[in-house]
Amino acid sequence: MTVETTSIDTLVVGAGQAGVAMSEHLSKLGVPHLVLERDRIAERWRTCRWDSLVANGPAWHDRFPNLEFADFDPNGFAAKEQVAQYFVEYAKKFDAPIRTGVEVKKVVRNAGRPGFSVDTSEGTIEANRVVVATGPFQRPVIPPIAPTSAHLTQIHSADYRNPQQLPEGGVLVVGAGSSGVQIADELQRAGRRVYLSVGAHDRPPRGYRGRDFCWWLGVLGEWDAEVMKPGREHVTIAVSGARGGHTVDFRRLAHQGITLVGLTKAFDDTVVTFEADLADNIRRGDENYLSLLDAADAYAQRNGLDLPEEPQARIIPADPECMTHPLLELDLAKAGVTSIVWATGYAVDFTWLQVDAFDEKGKPKHQRGVAKEPGIYFLGLPWLSRRGSAFIWGVWHDAKHVADHIVTQRKYLAYYDEPQRHVEEKRVEGGESAPDESRVHKLSEMGIN
Ligand SMILES: Cc1cc2nc3c(=O)[nH]c(=O)nc-3n(C[C@H](O)[C@H](O)[C@H](O)COP(=O)(O)OP(=O)(O)OC[C@H]3O[C@@H](n4cnc5c(N)ncnc54)[C@H](O)[C@@H]3O)c2cc1C
Repeated sequence: MTVETTSIDTLVVGAGQAGVAMSEHLSKLGVPHLVLERDRIAERWRTCRWDSLVANGPAWHDRFPNLEFADFDPNGFAAKEQVAQYFVEYAKKFDAPIRTGVEVKKVVRNAGRPGFSVDTSEGTIEANRVVVATGPFQRPVIPPIAPTSAHLTQIHSADYRNPQQLPEGGVLVVGAGSSGVQIADELQRAGRRVYLSVGAHDRPPRGYRGRDFCWWLGVLGEWDAEVMKPGREHVTIAVSGARGGHTVDFRRLAHQGITLVGLTKAFDDTVVTFEADLADNIRRGDENYLSLLDAADAYAQRNGLDLPEEPQARIIPADPECMTHPLLELDLAKAGVTSIVWATGYAVDFTWLQVDAFDEKGKPKHQRGVAKEPGIYFLGLPWLSRRGSAFIWGVWHDAKHVADHIVTQRKYLAYYDEPQRHVEEKRVEGGESAPDESRVHKLSEMGIN
């Protein structure tokens, strides 16, 4: 699709949930804008997730405030395609100005005049402001310890689709956040021998006393936490909406047949070594689990909530053999392991954004999404303003803040430009030279006046 607009007030890059939320707020506030998406709306929900993935949160929670999932049990977990379709429907609802199939290739700051020049696959656009909504999870990361052995098939969780995709044989899944744990479970249920490498994690109960953990984290203010707890920077969250939703319990997975191992340390050809930290990691996960039950009980008591008691939720199964006698070394070839799935997270890639919005380590420098470089905004990044920032419901609230900031900036500019124009008009009436029409024209094209 050709981009016939050559200048716009605000350009939003990316039409995942963040771009759609941004567009809704900008539309409501009357800010002229355009959203450019290189693929389709919510593409990552369609093609960067495995086949059986469902949302980790129930449909009543993992959605935007102004639309429910149509014909869907609010306590159910929407499949990835349903999530993608939800955002398509949402964008239709307010006729979001989204152009799909257009990639933003470069953004540079204009010299001596406002705004940015944006190179796209369909030509150049001038924009006063650019909102970067290209996702929290862009580039799959496989750590440098990955072996070079040609006998092993290695993929990142972003490329995992289903068990049939992997060659016959056992699988080592590295990483036990929501992706790793769900993929390991699926592979084991499909009859594979599975080793799951478990690091530090939180594992809230799926539900407790009749309420989903998303509700508990909400009322306890945890989704709104503005800073990570010290020392928890590398702690992942292990939750699952699969098979109707269930609590991730590593001991149960081990009793089911998965061999748990500690953090993956190193490879020597096909021999892999693991840290001796498995039991510690699992116990810390238990502490996190139990602390949420405690906080939930205290909240229920404090507020006199009549919720059914659930003492059985506190029963922790016996430690499995793989915890009491942890495997510290494994010859993958001898064990019949033919594949490794790296569920080791993602990085961001902002090489196309050539502006002064990054710190010395290349990380976006911003305050609640408002970048160090005036006119640049980030949205959807983990912890942009709070714990929920990279999740469906959280990004909508961050988008509102960014949109409000944009409106405030536009007001300042309008206040300056209006009197300036009157002065220039008076000068013309008085026979002085004409105003700089090119600037007035440009500003109105950009929706500034
Ligand atoms: C496996 C997995 C499961 C998840 N499950 C949940 C869940 O259940 N609930 C929840 O709330 N969150 C979940 N998340 C987290 C989060 O909701 C998703 O990652 C979500 O996709 C983030 O939305 P986004 O719009 O910020 O980014 P993305 O969905 O990544 O969208 C960014 C868009 O920008 C486009 N783009 C990128 N670069 C350019 C460019 N240069 N020019 C034009 N377009 C560009 C991309 O094509 C993409 O469509 C999950 C994440 C993962 C990885």
